[in-house]
Amino acid sequence: MILTGRVSIVTGASQGIGEAIALSLAEDKATVILVDIQKNKLDEVAEKIRARKGSVFGYSADVSQFDQASELVERVLKDHQKIDYLVNNAGITRDGLLLRLKEEDWDSVIAVNLKGVFNFSKAVIRSMISNRFGRIVNIASVVGLMGNAGQTNYSASKAGVIGFTKSLAREVAARGITVNAIAPGYIATSMTEDLSEAVKNAFVEFIPMKRFGTPDEVAQVVKFFLSEEASYITGQVLGINGGMLM
Ligand code: NAP
Repeated sequence: MILTGRVSIVTGASQGIGEAIALSLAEDKATVILVDIQKNKLDEVAEKIRARKGSVFGYSADVSQFDQASELVERVLKDHQKIDYLVNNAGITRDGLLLRLKEEDWDSVIAVNLKGVFNFSKAVIRSMISNRFGRIVNIASVVGLMGNAGQTNYSASKAGVIGFTKSLAREVAARGITVNAIAPGYIATSMTEDLSEAVKNAFVEFIPMKRFGTPDEVAQVVKFFLSEEASYITGQVLGINGGMLM
């Protein structure tokens, strides 16, 4: 895929799925703006991309903060004149059965996973509308579609992302902007590595392909949604889950 000249923002790009998306966009020559809450980890990913002769800029920001999102986007627009792609990937979990779930665990998950998507989409949408071009890909989750005990907060945030995706897709479709969501199943990243072996084995049993996915398997599909080839696809939610939900 040739993405030369495309300016892309990827949130939560310091590791896991976000890092894989950033590396894969850079590989196809897009300019990649990495956004993450921790600067030091961002610098490591930026170094990897530079070592492969990619064009990369790293900014630390907390996606849950409206002002930080708007200021960052303004800065990117000043430096690069446009934003072609936005990948809302940053996300967190704070699991617990509702009986024991703390209010702060509800608030922080909704703030990062759902409000973060609002903050960055709102920040980029005006310039995408003026350019009559844009691609937004939101990383939701299979549990936003099927629910999961112990994840009322996370599942609600991801179901919210799906509703947001479809509504925004309808608002901007006639302006040359597509908005889609990806709903990964279990992917091998730090988000899932803390699970006990017993829990991981139980999940694997439930997955027809009998394994977790890799960050790159998600990144390649994100890149497809951003590409010219996907220009007539909007408002869709694509599962990448080894058959876990059909
Ligand atoms: P990850 O390895 O934990 O990476 C998430 C990144 O987002 C981290 O670098 C994290 O920084 C950053 N981040 C967290 N809060 C942030 C904030 N407020 N502002 C900016 N950056 C923030 O997770 P992942 O597995 O790659 O997940 C990426 C996305 O895929 C998430 O939206 C997740 O919900 C979704 N997803 C993952 C799976 C899976 O099985 N892994 C399945 C379905 C969906 P810190 O590490 O410093 O917090």
